Amino acid sequence: MLRQFLPEPYLPALTTAWGVGLFTASTAPLQDLWRPLLIGVGIAVVLGVIVRVVAQRHRWVAVAIGAAWMLAIGAWPFALLVLLVALWRAAVDGIRARQARSPVREAAGDQVTRILRAIAAAALAVVVFSLATSGAIRIDGPIVSPAALDVEAPSAPSIYLVLLDGYPATDTLEADFGFDNSAFLDRLDERGFDVASSSHSNYNRTLLTLASMLHMEYLEEIEELGTPSDGFSAQTRQLSAAINQSPVPGMLADAGYRTVAIGSSYGEATLVSADEIVDSPTMTMFEEQLLRYTTLGAWIIGTWPELVAEQHRRGVLDTTAAFGALAREAGAPTFALAHVFSPHTPFVFNADGSPRPPLGCYPRSCGLTTPELARLGISADEYADGLTAQVTYLNDVLVEEIDRLLEADPDAVVILFSDHGARYEDGPADEHFRTFFAARTPAQDGLFGDHVSPIDVFPRLFQAYFGATLPEHEYRAAWAPDDAPLETTPVELTPDR
Ligand SMILES: [Zn+2]
Repeated sequence: MLRQFLPEPYLPALTTAWGVGLFTASTAPLQDLWRPLLIGVGIAVVLGVIVRVVAQRHRWVAVAIGAAWMLAIGAWPFALLVLLVALWRAAVDGIRARQARSPVREAAGDQVTRILRAIAAAALAVVVFSLATSGAIRIDGPIVSPAALDVEAPSAPSIYLVLLDGYPATDTLEADFGFDNSAFLDRLDERGFDVASSSHSNYNRTLLTLASMLHMEYLEEIEELGTPSDGFSAQTRQLSAAINQSPVPGMLADAGYRTVAIGSSYGEATLVSADEIVDSPTMTMFEEQLLRYTTLGAWIIGTWPELVAEQHRRGVLDTTAAFGALAREAGAPTFALAHVFSPHTPFVFNADGSPRPPLGCYPRSCGLTTPELARLGISADEYADGLTAQVTYLNDVLVEEIDRLLEADPDAVVILFSDHGARYEDGPADEHFRTFFAARTPAQDGLFGDHVSPIDVFPRLFQAYFGATLPEHEYRAAWAPDDAPLETTPVELTPDR
C-alpha cells in the first residue's frame, strides 16, 4: 500500500549525478557541495513521489514531470533520455497493437522506469568515479613547518589578518577614481596603524597572492604548485590545496596559537585547515554559478538579480562582523585570516550602506564579480561612483569592527591588506598589483615600511615578534590569465609615480 508513495528513484539519482558532475567540473571546495545537493535532491524526491502516484494512471504526465525537472536543472541530456525511453516504449506498444498481438506482459510504464533506473545507476557510477579521480576531494597531508617559532604563547600577540579583496591603492583611488581616502587613513592612524604608501602584490589573483603569502615564497618555489595541472578547475584546486598546506598557519599552531578562518562566499580561498572556521550562511559563489547554469535558476536570478546582490551584501557584513567579534582566548593568542569579499565588484552598497541595485549586465552579459570596466556596460564615472561608494561604506564598517576587536584584544597585531588592485582595466596592468596595506604592530612601529608586498609579511612579522630568521625577497610580479591561474608570466611594473 505504502509502496506506491515511495519516490521514483531515478529522479533523485539523476539529480545527484548531475549535481556531482557540475561540482567536479567546478573549482568549489567540498564543503560547498552539500547544501545545493541536498536542496536539489530534496526537490527531486518530492517530484519522485508525485511521479510514482501519477504514473499509475497517466504515464505521459509522469514522463513529462521527470523530463521537465531535468530541463529545469539544466540537465538536458537526461531530459532527452527520459523522453527517448518513453517514446521508444510507446512506439513498441503501437507496433504490437497494430500486429494485434496479445497485450504486453509487463506494464509498459514499469518498463520505462526500470530502464531509467538503470541509466540513473550507471550515471551515478560514472560521476562518482570521475569525482574520486578528479582531485576535487582533497586529503591534506601533515603540514611541514620550515622552522619552529620561539614563542611564549601566553604573552605573544594575537595576529589578525583581513584580506580586503580588490581594495585599490590609495594612489589609484585618487588618480584613477578622483577619490580622497585620507579620512580613512587618518582614522587608522588614530588606532595605531601604519599605512604603506606604495604596497604591491606579487600576483593579480586572490589564490595566488594567498598561497605565496602563506608559503612565504614565490609560487614556482612551492612544491605542490611545481607542475600545473591541466585546466582552470584543476589549477584552482591545486592553489586551494597549497593554501591549506601552507606552513604559516601550521607554524603558528605549533607555537600555541589558536587558528581561525573567516571564509567568504568564495570557499576556494578559505583556510579550511584552521582550528575553527567561521562561515556565513549566505549563498556561496558555487551556488550562484549553479543558479546561472540551471534553466530554472537562471530564470530566477535573471528576474530577481537583487536576490543575489542581497546575499552578497549579507555575506560581506557577516565576514566583517565575525572579524570584529574575534578575541583572544585565555592563555592562547589567536591567528585569524578573514576574507572580506569587498570592495571587489559587485558594487552593492551606497556610501551610507543602503543597498545599491546590481548592474543591468548581471546575470546576462557579466558575472557577479566581473571587475573589468569594459565588460560591465557602464561609464568610467559610474564605475568610479560604484567603487568609491562601496569603499566609503566598507571603511566605516571596518573602523567599527576594528574598534570592537581592539576593545577585546588591545595588544593585537592587525593587518588590513588587499590581494590585488581593482583590476578595472584589462590586464596585465600595473594597477592590478597596486594594493592597500595597513598594519598595526604594537611595539614594532613602522615594521613594514612603504614598499611591503604579501610574500614578506610573515617573515617580517616572525622576525620582529619571535626573532625568527626567514628569508625576505626581491620584489617580483607575475600576471595570471583568468583561465589558467598557474600559467603566469613575469611583469615589469613601471616605477612609482
Ligand atoms: Zn581577490
